[in-house]
Amino acid sequence: MTDIQISPRQTILTRMASAARTAGRSPEDVALVAVSKQQPWEAIAPVLAERQLIFGENRVQEAQERWADRREGLELRLIGPLQTNKVRDAVALFDVIETLDRPKLAKALAEEAARQGRMPRLYVQVNTGEEPQKAGVSPTLADGFIAECRALGLPIEGLMAIPPEGVPPGMHFALLAKIAARNGLTKLSMGMSGDFETAIAHGATSVRVGSALFGARTY
Ligand SMILES: *Cc1c(COP(=O)(O)O)cnc(C)c1O
Repeated sequence: MTDIQISPRQTILTRMASAARTAGRSPEDVALVAVSKQQPWEAIAPVLAERQLIFGENRVQEAQERWADRREGLELRLIGPLQTNKVRDAVALFDVIETLDRPKLAKALAEEAARQGRMPRLYVQVNTGEEPQKAGVSPTLADGFIAECRALGLPIEGLMAIPPEGVPPGMHFALLAKIAARNGLTKLSMGMSGDFETAIAHGATSVRVGSALFGARTY
């Protein structure tokens, strides 16, 4: 008897492809960002061995420790809040920063990118639920902030959001898609382990999946 092992990653990719097709989209238009934060290397290594190339991290220092010596050929994305005193390290390490959400950070990124001659691709984080404890620019201020970033010469590639917990996320994904469309942005980072299929239905071009891929995080 042959025991065919289907990895968690393969299962997620299959679900992503099916969600894309259901929405009349092409599976190739949705990327899987493997959120490796707080995961032991034993959990990450098998996923890397399956040729997963895009990884998401929420802390600059943790990402440096994990990836600095083995980032060749990989795309690293920062998906957690960025303090201005970490901008230098973040610009040096990450290919994509998804959490640009305030003018002070925009200015710091523009200055540091000029200094290093290296500019990560950028996403503006939108606080679609207007939750006071959550990072992200308010939806009503998003258009102005995107314009401000562009005036600084920052290459804004798309938008990112983390919907509030405990409510259906669909309207938050739809709001993010609407803000992106009216600002001429085509990339949408939205959807996590519990809701990535809904996010794909609403136009996600990348989903950030952690626990469904690696198992529960170790703290
Ligand atoms: C941790 C994290 C994720 C992954 O969450 P899971 O529910 O484990 O898939 C996605 N996005 C952000 C911003 C995160 O901090």
